Amino acid sequence: MATAIPPGLLDRLWLYTNLHCNLRCRYCLAESGPRAMRARLEWPAFQALVDQAASLGFRQVALTGGEPFLHPHILELLRSSAGRRAGDTAPPARPAQPAESGPRESRGRGS
Ligand code: SF4
Repeated sequence: MATAIPPGLLDRLWLYTNLHCNLRCRYCLAESGPRAMRARLEWPAFQALVDQAASLGFRQVALTGGEPFLHPHILELLRSSAGRRAGDTAPPARPAQPAESGPRESRGRGS
């Protein structure tokens, strides 16, 4: 059977967990910073993307932003994706959602 995408090409899925950052680096490719849009990837969408990636054979999930550790549920996202394997079709149960996870947001320079 022919495949449209050669095996191994889709190895790593990059996901932006959120767009803002507590820093404001001049070289930032994401144009992030304290005043960037507060959009973030919520758990259901994150899980759906990880599920699709696993079923397609992706072997790694990389999280970026903005600053991923400003996402209020970053530990939940990490836990839910850490045990997945390429070829998995059944998602894990949603981990318990703590009231507040991750560090408090700090103000970066210039804010
Ligand atoms: S995401 Fe934040 S820490 Fe990373 S380059 Fe952009 S401003 Fe700097």
